[in-house]
Amino acid sequence: MELGIRGRTALVCAASKGLGKGCAMSLAREGVELVIIARGRESLEATAEEIRKATGTKVTAVAGDITTPEGRAAALAACPSPDILVNNAGGPPPGDFREWTRETWIQALNANMLTPIELIKAVIDPMIERKFGRIVNITSSAVKMPIAELGLSNGARTGLTGFIAGLARKTAMHNVTINNLLPGAMWTDRLRANIEFNAKKSGKSVEEAKRAREATIPAGRFGTPEEFGEYCAYLCSAQAGYLTAQNLLLDGGMVPTTF
Ligand code: NAP
Repeated sequence: MELGIRGRTALVCAASKGLGKGCAMSLAREGVELVIIARGRESLEATAEEIRKATGTKVTAVAGDITTPEGRAAALAACPSPDILVNNAGGPPPGDFREWTRETWIQALNANMLTPIELIKAVIDPMIERKFGRIVNITSSAVKMPIAELGLSNGARTGLTGFIAGLARKTAMHNVTINNLLPGAMWTDRLRANIEFNAKKSGKSVEEAKRAREATIPAGRFGTPEEFGEYCAYLCSAQAGYLTAQNLLLDGGMVPTTF
């Protein structure tokens, strides 16, 4: 299926690895010109080169922290008026809410709620004028099925979700869609580190801990960044103009709800 976005431009945040990289690669395969941002310059440059080689598409790498005003300014200077925005940043750490200070909360809210809102604010009016815009926010299955020790993520991402639910209804008539894509357990560095941590704690081998976790997922395995990227690219397609304001799980059936 040709997605009808060849020649469009995209800003893909937190894209040197994992899910952001998966989204960047799938968009590039559709001929979308990219600006990608992450903090570590070396892995970012390597990813940019990998995407260029694989797709022949123009990729600009901007090293910076998307959760800071300086990082956002650098990303927007390289891509002031994208047709597509993929919002993403690292997730907050797990813990016990009794130990979280106001500052801990502000950091989580900044990274996973206010940063995507700031970026949307910066790019949405030109999208509305051009009558084309696609915004995808990478959130988490924890929005639908909260994980107690990830309270910072549950809270911040649900705040973003509520905001998007209102805004998306204001932009739909202009062919500007906004959706949240909710990863379940996807095989990235982040999940790998999480499995290694739990394996150490429980005295299991990493392979054992991985298999045990995979067995809890109806699909019997973790999802891949490539699968995530393909879903994201479809949400950004010309064909997806009627698909907006949704919270879309990609979880191999993990979240046990009817709707
Ligand atoms: P990952 O494999 O660790 O990759 C994270 C990427 O984001 C890296 O490229 C990293 O590069 C970049 N990044 C992190 N913080 C950044 C910042 N402040 N500014 C710019 N770039 C930043 O993580 P992932 O698994 O793809 O997760 C992506 C998001 O999905 C996270 O918010 C995570 O909580 C959420 N999520 C993931 C899963 C899962 O199973 N994987 C499930 C639910 C939710 P640098 O470190 O070099 O900046």
